[in-house]
Amino acid sequence: MTEKSWTILVVPHNKENVRKISIRPGLITFFSVLCIAFIFAGIYLTVTYWNDKYNLFKLAKLENENKLLLQKVKAVDKGIAQLSGGIGKLLEENQQYRCIAGLQFLSEDIIEAGIGGIAPGGDPYLFEIDSHLAKKLQNQDTQLDALLRKADLARQSIKDAIENIKATSDKWAHYPSIKPTKGYISSGFGRRLHPVFKKMQFHCGIDLKTSEGFPILATADGMVSQSAKRGGFGKTVTIDHGYGIRTFYAHCSEIYVSEGQPVKRGDVIGRVGHTGRTTGAHLHYEVHVDGVPKNPLNYILDSYVP
Ligand SMILES: [Zn+2]
Repeated sequence: MTEKSWTILVVPHNKENVRKISIRPGLITFFSVLCIAFIFAGIYLTVTYWNDKYNLFKLAKLENENKLLLQKVKAVDKGIAQLSGGIGKLLEENQQYRCIAGLQFLSEDIIEAGIGGIAPGGDPYLFEIDSHLAKKLQNQDTQLDALLRKADLARQSIKDAIENIKATSDKWAHYPSIKPTKGYISSGFGRRLHPVFKKMQFHCGIDLKTSEGFPILATADGMVSQSAKRGGFGKTVTIDHGYGIRTFYAHCSEIYVSEGQPVKRGDVIGRVGHTGRTTGAHLHYEVHVDGVPKNPLNYILDSYVP
């Protein structure tokens, strides 16, 4: 049996003879398969080419991103160093505040407590890709945690110090600390021979001998609790300074303040005189703490004398 074949007629448009080309079906199948293979190969090569091109573009983009991120990591390192310096300075100033406030310095143990070691965790995926970078980032986390803790400690400590300074400065403002008038001490605190009665008595204050009419100053902030004549003391002023402290001024010639009036340290409250039982113009000055008379000399600080 003869194999069937295909005949292709080639008819020229001139007077040449018609040509016959006989093709066997096997050959047609072979060429068809070859064509399809070429088409698929073409598609595959095109896709692979564009895919490679896309991957290269993606890689370049990732490399750029990586470069930028490494720059950022360096910038964060720099920022951490600056922040560390700033917080260190803040902690130093904090110690000065604590000193002024009469508080103890924060010890290194307290400042460094809980600081050290490496922060737990870290990105395990990043560790696999780039352990050096992963460690660096983990170290930055550790440093930032420590700085946040130190900043919080400094903030709280300065707040404590300022509150303490406020409370202390208020107390100091109400603490008798100056001489109530210029003059020399003619009679001290304690037992003495009374200048008028000529017998031993306890002198609850000091006598400051000076000229009549010299101004008498309030020795601390407070409120006038009494402004009155009191027997042998003559014209007197009592100031309540709070904190259980009172001061008493006697034998005044004039009084410029009245009960309930607030006064500041250094305010002129009256003038030296010799009202009451005296041997001459002087100021009798007393300081009482919780109702107990104290030696006024202990409440006159040289540096505070006006
Ligand atoms: Zn006296």
